[in-house]
Order: sequence, then C-alpha cells, then structure tokens
Amino acid sequence: MKNLIFTDGTTMPVGTMYGIGQNYDKHAREMGSTLQRGEKIIFIKPSSSYVPDGGKIILPSISNEVHYEVELVVVIGKDCRNVSKENAWDYIAGFAVGIDATLRDLQKYAKEKGLPWAIAKGFRNSAPISKIIPISNFEKNKKDFEFELKINGQTRQVGNTLDMIYSVEELIEFLSTIFDLEPGDIIFTGTPEGVGKLNDGDKLEAELKGFVKLSIDVVAEKNQ
Ligand code: MG
Repeated sequence: MKNLIFTDGTTMPVGTMYGIGQNYDKHAREMGSTLQRGEKIIFIKPSSSYVPDGGKIILPSISNEVHYEVELVVVIGKDCRNVSKENAWDYIAGFAVGIDATLRDLQKYAKEKGLPWAIAKGFRNSAPISKIIPISNFEKNKKDFEFELKINGQTRQVGNTLDMIYSVEELIEFLSTIFDLEPGDIIFTGTPEGVGKLNDGDKLEAELKGFVKLSIDVVAEKNQ
C-alpha cells in the first residue's frame, strides 16, 4: 500500500483513484468529443499506479503515444455517500496537482471498439501526484485554482478550474451517488487543452499556482 504525503508531514494510504474525462470544453473539442451536456466520463486507476513527487512515468512498450494531462487533484477526507454539493467541501482532505498519464493510442482503439479504458488510464506509474496541501490552507469553496505543466522548461498546459464543466463540489456529489468514497480516495478532475506526447528523458514540472510543485522524470520501459 502506498501513502499520500501531505505538506504538513502527515500521510494517508492512497485509495481508489477516480478520473473525470472531458471536463474542460476546449480539451473535449481537441479529443473530438461527442458527449452531450449532462453525460460524464468516469474511469478508475488502481491505487498502485500512484507516484509521489520525484518519481517517474515509465513509458510502457505496449504504447507509442503516452500523453500528459495536468489536473487539479482532490483528496477525500471522510466517507462520502450521497453528499450534496453544498456540503461537499467538508469532505475534502486537501488538494494537489497531478498528471493523468494516458496511453492515447490504446485509448483511441478502446473508444473505437467500445472497450474499457483500464489499460489506457490505469497502467503502472500512470498517476503522479504532488504533496497534498491540507484543506485548511484554502478559503472555503475556492473555485479558481490555477495550474500549469512545463516540460523541459517549456510551458505546455495552463489551466484554471473556473473553466471546468463540473465543479469539484458537483463531482463529489455525483460520484458519491454511485460509489462509496473513502478517506484517501482521489479525484483527477480533468485536463485543459494542450495535451501531448511524452518522450524518453522528458522532465515534467507541474504546479498548483501558489501552493505546490510536482517534479517527474519520464523514462522508456526499455531504458530503465
Ligand atoms: Mg484526464
């Protein structure tokens, strides 16, 4: 079992990781989305795919197109079942920035064939997450989280959660109507536009502006 690490030094076993697909309009368009308003894409990554700050994304030999997706990450702090969006903030343990690494070629194939995304989204080391900032450091119901991703020093993605189709609170409300969320569970809240391919040797630096940074190295499986 791997542990999430908070900036105050506390830890929490990482639980189920939920991902939200196409939660930003411009990214949905770059993916050629055909989703209707109200439809949601939910996927899961295994807890073992979590990578802490300073770790590695390993490009698996089964894919020729591993993409980065920088996202705001929510950590659940209490058991959630049927939590309303009005109360959702009280169930959050903290926020972080993460990379939802995705095997885009295998995901595209899965979409065409109507197959699950488990391999494309849940492969080994697919979920790097920064240290977690405890919830007490944020103003209640904060809406405007700014975040960005640099690769080898160049800015590749810039996002603001004001552009999310479904807010953090709405995502907790929705997920908790279907799943029992537990402390240590993670929500990858979706990526803004500008996703692209990772290459062997890339150095990633993601930042939740004003709060925390995440440094991750990229290495091809065959070069490990
Ligand atoms: Mg994503």
